[in-house]
Amino acid sequence: TIRTRFAPSPTGLLHIGGARTALFNYLFARHHGGEFVLRIEDTDRARSTQEAVQVILDGLDWLGLHSDAPPVYQTTREARHVEVAMQLLEQGKAYKCYCTPEELTAMRELALAEKRAPRYDGRWRDRDPSEAPAGVRPAIRLKAPREGEVVLQDLVQGEVRVKNAEMDDMIILRSDGTPTYLHAVVVDDHDMAITHVIRGDDHLTNTFRQIQIYDAMGWEKPAFAHIPLIHGADGAKLSKRHGAVSILEFREQGFLPEALCNYLLRLGWGHGDAEFLSRDEQIQLFTLEGVGRAASRMDYAKLTHLNGMWLRQADDSRLREEVVERLVKSGLTVDAPAMERLLALMPGLKERAKTLEDLAASAAFLAREVPLPFEPKAEALLTLETREMLARLLLVLRDTAFETAAIDAALRGFAEAEGRKLGQVAQPLRAALTGSTMSPGIDATLIALGKEESLKRIGALTA
Ligand code: GLU
Repeated sequence: TIRTRFAPSPTGLLHIGGARTALFNYLFARHHGGEFVLRIEDTDRARSTQEAVQVILDGLDWLGLHSDAPPVYQTTREARHVEVAMQLLEQGKAYKCYCTPEELTAMRELALAEKRAPRYDGRWRDRDPSEAPAGVRPAIRLKAPREGEVVLQDLVQGEVRVKNAEMDDMIILRSDGTPTYLHAVVVDDHDMAITHVIRGDDHLTNTFRQIQIYDAMGWEKPAFAHIPLIHGADGAKLSKRHGAVSILEFREQGFLPEALCNYLLRLGWGHGDAEFLSRDEQIQLFTLEGVGRAASRMDYAKLTHLNGMWLRQADDSRLREEVVERLVKSGLTVDAPAMERLLALMPGLKERAKTLEDLAASAAFLAREVPLPFEPKAEALLTLETREMLARLLLVLRDTAFETAAIDAALRGFAEAEGRKLGQVAQPLRAALTGSTMSPGIDATLIALGKEESLKRIGALTA
């Protein structure tokens, strides 16, 4: 069976690049009826935090990218990483390197002076360990081939080659006995029976070194797919100054997880013109062949547009839950009648919203009480003159049944009697009812608020 993994390092937040890598691994596994697993690469103990692990787990959970097994924590596998390093040592495929930090620094400085990439010169490769200086604890380095080349048939990048002569003998076990990242990943991917490694193309150079480890162990290699990174709209590598970068920030800003996944998939993966894809369709259609090689640019406008499309499709009671959470967070109380109104008005509200933040902002009036806060535009509509008109309208509405046909007829009749256009009545009325100039249809707004509350709000302005 096909097995993919997402292997984040809990040293920072789960950003959208990571989320997309997780999504591709998830979709690929599901597409092939395989498994998707999570490995937390926490070997950088100094920089890995439990909070960061939690943020990753919460982010994946929110995105609906559920792993088929409990997460594997890389640090728990250290003994195994050491064991494999020892095996390579015993087989003569690795060796002890007794270089002092000073020697390594000198090698680096020499490279710098000669304007070339620093590399270990292999000075302990064939040296007799009996020559080891006293008091230096050795690192273990892979005795990598010096001839030939590593040829990678990457499922996204195509064929990529690197000469072995261009790579030095990498450390697999540090002098303090801890495994290096490059080594740990290979051992884990092998032991976890990972068949496809799908990750950012910033890992491409690591892959060539990792292949040397697979070959030294005589292990079967997984297939590799290196996907291009996501850049900001300006083409630069994505960073904080591009706005929301953590997945959970997108949640806070009111994006739906399915919209974000849909967007991240479409970013750098093509399937005809299909823009709007459900998770099932994504699973059905996803292939690595569809992944482009160029870096893609994050486009917030497009994401926001897509989010609006997903909002309009979303279930009203689910949206209500999201909106109530936001309203309560902003200090409003949402009582039972307001809950009812919210649901009744949701179809109209979601037509206009692009994010859950928009939706909550436009729904807040339902939970407010008189005196309402007024937006400046709404305030401007409530002149002395329109307030007097609203006072007359109040008398009419008092005798009107609160259902669509009756309200329509009442408003039309009133506008005609006043010699105004319907909009000249509806706009100030909307301002009086909601404190805003934007709301669903005026009749829907009146009905959602109910007669008592509507009259109260108009009355508060005309008394
Ligand atoms: N832990 C690595 C990272 O967060 C990913 C390693 C991999 O996918 O092989 O960049």
